[in-house]
Amino acid sequence: MTAPVQLSVVIPVYNEELNLPTLFARLYPALDALGRRYEILFTNDGSADRSLDLLRAQYAARPDVTRVIDFNANYGQHMAIMAAFERVRGEVIVTLDADLQNPPEEIPKLLAAIDAGHDSVGGFRLNRQDSFFRTYASKLINFVRERTTSIRMTDQGCMLRAYRRPIIDAIVRSGAINTFIPALAYSFSGNPGEVGVKHEERHAGVSNYSFYQLIRLNFDLITGFSIAPLQYFTMFAMLSATGSLALVALLFFRRFLLNLDRETFGVFTLFGILFFLLSVAMIGIGLIGEYVGRTYQVVRARQRYHVKEVLEPKE
Ligand code: UDP
Ligand code: MG
Repeated sequence: MTAPVQLSVVIPVYNEELNLPTLFARLYPALDALGRRYEILFTNDGSADRSLDLLRAQYAARPDVTRVIDFNANYGQHMAIMAAFERVRGEVIVTLDADLQNPPEEIPKLLAAIDAGHDSVGGFRLNRQDSFFRTYASKLINFVRERTTSIRMTDQGCMLRAYRRPIIDAIVRSGAINTFIPALAYSFSGNPGEVGVKHEERHAGVSNYSFYQLIRLNFDLITGFSIAPLQYFTMFAMLSATGSLALVALLFFRRFLLNLDRETFGVFTLFGILFFLLSVAMIGIGLIGEYVGRTYQVVRARQRYHVKEVLEPKE
């Protein structure tokens, strides 16, 4: 029998042919230097470039520690990570981006925090190297999340993170859809920790996230972890209903007791109120739709992704 795997490193890969050679050249030596038995799981998330060829070649070069999961299509970063989570063998699991924005040399810092007793350790990016827009958008999201969910983390967008195995098992069992993995892990964690990690510019290529996907992801984050939006909405609706009533009462008071506003009474004010109520109702429908949609996805229980092939040594 072989010794148990101590460390699993999970890396989603989508069109990263320009980054993979450098990633291999930096990651393997960094992990070899740890002196722990490790494995690296790459998920090829339906790349359209030569990423899969490079992963195959790497598997051929280091079959002892390399495993490759190949998706038939692009299912997104979080599904790619989930597929790897379902197959990890290590006691500690580290997630990492393939574009070298999180330097592999920082992994020991995370492991030190795990060894110190944390069951989940998040990196937060020191000197963040992203566009002005990305950095500030993410500050805003942080602010909203802090207020709507019970999740407390400095940098939810940093994917350089480490978890103990039971956390990963819990994530896999939860069968969550539209998962925001760092937040899900946090909710299962008993002793979360954080360490600052270096952040570099994307080594090569462009970010795979469009503006639209970022909005979706953050919407998932809020609706996936709290029903606060729904509750705020109800409170807001109640407040505005009270306000509208008060306004109508004021109008009547001015018109019939003070005998003012003879010409303008009515039409325009009521239109104003009507438009306002209408927009409130529309926000509500949108929110309800979001929750109904999620329920539908769970109830439907469709397979979330399809694995075409797995390259790994026989046990
Ligand atoms: N990624 C993926 N599937 C996707 C989009 C991204 O597996 O549909 C991977 C990508 O290869 C990288 C990581 O997720 O390893 C982070 O992606 P990216 O660098 O584009 O995101 P950003 O750093 O801009 O947030
Ligand atoms: Mg990146």
